[in-house]
Amino acid sequence: MKFQKVAISDLTVALHERGFSYLRRDGRGRLRYAGELRLKQRNYPCELAILPSLDDFPRVWLTPVPPGRPEIQPHLSAGGYLCYLAVGSVIFDSFKPIEQTMACLDRAEQVLEDILAGKMIEDLAEEFHITWGSSWCMVDVDERRPGALEAYTFGLAISVATDDKARTREKLEAIGMGLPKTELSAFLVNTKAEPMPLQDSWPPRTVQAFLKWQNTLDPKCSKKIEQRLLEMFRAKVTRSLVIVDSPKLQYGIEVELKRDLPGIGQKPSPREILYRLPVHRISVCRMDDKHLAERNLPGSKTLAGLKIGLVGCGTIGGYLAEMLAKAGAGTIGGTLTLADMGSLEPGNLGRHRLGFDALTKNKAKAMCDELKRVAPGIDVVPVGGDVKNADLGPLDLLIDATGEQGLTDWLTWRYADKMPFLAAWVEGTGAAVRAIMKAKPEHACARCVSQPPLKDQYRVFDVPPEVIMKGYGCEGLYVPFPASTSVQAAALAMEMVQAWLDGTESPSFRTRVLDLNREVHFKDCTPQRFEECPACAT
Ligand SMILES: [Zn+2]
Repeated sequence: MKFQKVAISDLTVALHERGFSYLRRDGRGRLRYAGELRLKQRNYPCELAILPSLDDFPRVWLTPVPPGRPEIQPHLSAGGYLCYLAVGSVIFDSFKPIEQTMACLDRAEQVLEDILAGKMIEDLAEEFHITWGSSWCMVDVDERRPGALEAYTFGLAISVATDDKARTREKLEAIGMGLPKTELSAFLVNTKAEPMPLQDSWPPRTVQAFLKWQNTLDPKCSKKIEQRLLEMFRAKVTRSLVIVDSPKLQYGIEVELKRDLPGIGQKPSPREILYRLPVHRISVCRMDDKHLAERNLPGSKTLAGLKIGLVGCGTIGGYLAEMLAKAGAGTIGGTLTLADMGSLEPGNLGRHRLGFDALTKNKAKAMCDELKRVAPGIDVVPVGGDVKNADLGPLDLLIDATGEQGLTDWLTWRYADKMPFLAAWVEGTGAAVRAIMKAKPEHACARCVSQPPLKDQYRVFDVPPEVIMKGYGCEGLYVPFPASTSVQAAALAMEMVQAWLDGTESPSFRTRVLDLNREVHFKDCTPQRFEECPACAT
């Protein structure tokens, strides 16, 4: 029997039993109810907004905000909005909207009880960003060192601060903005203190109030800001942007350094004027490469600053190149070298990262162009000729995604004793993907495990699948498998790159089986090299 949707009228009845009455539909089509949150001491009038689809948490406003309280409360906005659940922290079960709504009201009552008892003050730090800026600054700064920054403004609503104008311009042009012409004097200060709003006077509206607040967090930082602002004031700077870099987030202020304030008396000192100037609170939107690469892997290392080489920009290498770029390759002083002598043909398109617009172009060059498009500012270098005639080193890591055993052997012979060397390939028919990392002399290379006598020991399946080639004539032969197989090979290689970066002890030879109908013979492991292997002899 199919589940019958709960009717709005059923919810209205249930809410009525809890003392709520239906008011109206609001401007966004939500159902509004009025009632009370019932706390131990007394009840607080509130309004609810509920989506007519009954598939989301009710939103709760206190009507009115309890009077005589500090200016800001954790989880309670100035407009009375009560944040009793972090969005995304719990999933609303839309099959049980009545029970879920009632549970939400219970939770809202508990949270309000705690707020009024002053129990949740620490949470104010986490809500800082909501109460802070009304303007934005895009910050593209690699080195978070204190000192002057270049900054530009689009007007009061958006500005941008950078330590590399050319790179930031590329990023802004990629989103159709470009670097604005108006310059700002900007500087960055570091602090270990997380910003914590002041409950009795918030937010700071003048330089003096801002410095006073900073002084409660980190007196040294406050002094530094005051000193720098005064220097700028004396140097006749007209507008100044201050970025405060704290461990978890950056935030800032912008100050128009006016000198003629009305009603301030005869010959005021620069400090007296400065203190009375209004501040614009600035929220920071980080767009620096370090943040982009490590944001999803806190505590892990990135490829930023390293020299990475990738040979093979075909079906595996194309996807892998993009993953390497997203992990920070080619940023903050690092380079990503892409090598491939082939051109993109129509037959490649069905399983290649690149598209129609790259047809007939050299794959390495086209992939470089694509990475510059998706990761502006990246330092990526194409090697379009025969890789055997190129000198790729010195590198921190070389990756082979050619899937050509002969070339893999040659690259191993040429480079594997000088740098960590990772090879990834699709096994035969696409029934599995494999990758092997040779980062130590005693570890096996791709040739060690794919030639006798070790070949049999490390085969993937009990019975190796028959390789079927498609295509006409000896020129057009290829092994048929879908893009999903190449993506899995690239993903396996990327997992091993990350493990290498983080220094995790993990198998150097890994396989992902894609054909689940076959008996698997292999387990991920770290094979020792075959002493007589001609490719990886040292
Ligand atoms: Zn070997």
